[in-house]
Amino acid sequence: MKIFQNRFIDFPWYPFLIPFIFILNELRLVFFEYTVTTQSDKILFSTVIFFSNCLIFFICYILLKNKNKAGILSVIPIIFFNWYFDIFNYLIRLDIIQELFLNISTRIHWIILLLLMIIFVIVYYLLKKSLEKFSYFNMYLNIIFMSYFAIELYQYISLEKLDISLSNTEISQQKIPMEPNGIESPDIYFIVFDSYTNNNNLKKYWGFENSDISDYLENKGFWVSDAGASNYNGTEFSIAATMNASYININVQDDLSKVKYTDLLHLIQNNQLLYILKDLSYGLKEFSVSSPKSIPHMRFHVIENLYYRTFLYLVQEKIFGVKEPDYWNVNSTITKNINSLKNEKGPFLVYAHYSFPHFPYLFDSTGKKITDKKICFDITNKHYFLNQLKYTNQVMKEVVKSIFEIDKKSIIIIQGDHGFRLLTDESSEEMAKEGYSVFNAIYLPNGNYTGFPDTMTTVNTFRYVFNNYFNTSWVILENKKIKVFYPELFR
Ligand SMILES: [Zn+2]
Repeated sequence: MKIFQNRFIDFPWYPFLIPFIFILNELRLVFFEYTVTTQSDKILFSTVIFFSNCLIFFICYILLKNKNKAGILSVIPIIFFNWYFDIFNYLIRLDIIQELFLNISTRIHWIILLLLMIIFVIVYYLLKKSLEKFSYFNMYLNIIFMSYFAIELYQYISLEKLDISLSNTEISQQKIPMEPNGIESPDIYFIVFDSYTNNNNLKKYWGFENSDISDYLENKGFWVSDAGASNYNGTEFSIAATMNASYININVQDDLSKVKYTDLLHLIQNNQLLYILKDLSYGLKEFSVSSPKSIPHMRFHVIENLYYRTFLYLVQEKIFGVKEPDYWNVNSTITKNINSLKNEKGPFLVYAHYSFPHFPYLFDSTGKKITDKKICFDITNKHYFLNQLKYTNQVMKEVVKSIFEIDKKSIIIIQGDHGFRLLTDESSEEMAKEGYSVFNAIYLPNGNYTGFPDTMTTVNTFRYVFNNYFNTSWVILENKKIKVFYPELFR
């Protein structure tokens, strides 16, 4: 009993438990995240949080020279240190804070720190003067934080990862029929312009006639659709479906939110087409915003994902500034990468994915850079979107020119991955529908576009392309629309 009392009642365990509560909570949040957080990122994060929390406790111990009092004193700064931005975001949403600090919003961090210092000093003096041993108070805190820890641990362990797979794999059994003289193996370019809607809707919602680019492409021998659609209204789902010529096995709305983005990226990088094309010794070239490997400017700093709730992030933001992804560079690098393929030995399946015309709106219609953040992140502004789309057309022409210079006999597919999902001035129904509209233009060196419907959906893209170019007889899948993005949240 005595040992129990010493170990449990009379020792402040909670300053060493709180960091683990925070770490588990954060790791649970990033579980479904888009950013690929590596094992070593997680270990480093856990170590940094644990030791900085310990340091806070030891500073309190040096100040008070009593372990129980130090434990109580350390709770306040430890919680502030770990959950700084949770507290900050809560505070700035309060009406009273908004009224009080309307004009000094940039100084709000200093005010919070000042408040924290005042509370800390008051508690310090109260504890220092007190003759209490705080054994039982200490025990209560141990029990409370142990319970929190148990809840957090349980939630972390019970995170369930949904296994995703493809629904339509029958094509992987059907080989490409080899011609007697040997089949041509052209490079296949799948070029995505994020959120590029279709021509019919550009006319309907923007009053914009997109004939300049359509005419340009048709003159080069492309088939251009006016009523194209995607099957998912979210990027990674849509691309995974297109590049695998298959739906994903999950249809239940609740389950779709449990899909891990990294699993979708895996489906994209190990797509079914590549498996089918391996007999013709194709390799994959990926130049995409979702693949930071090939586009280094896109790499978010580690501190900006795992640490973003902590006080460390504030320090980093104030001292070093926040490193934002350099979209301008990303997009020009993609074009450069495509150009550089002329020096490489193919054949390749090239997946190039530009970030525009999707927001941030970084270009005006002539391609002049926009740096005013108010414009860049006015995300529902469809006029800025249209301007960026006009510039996208310019880039599209350059890319097509480059590819034709490399090899006139390439297959080229130019598509949006979903529509403009933020048509807030239209009805909810129209807004939702527009989320699936995509630009779609295809170039086959044999010019055989027989049977290509104007309403082709993206999951069938490669089924039509392979049937008409490689003489496969793959079935055309039913056109479905599956909601993975919630436009109503932006109303
Ligand atoms: Zn997208």
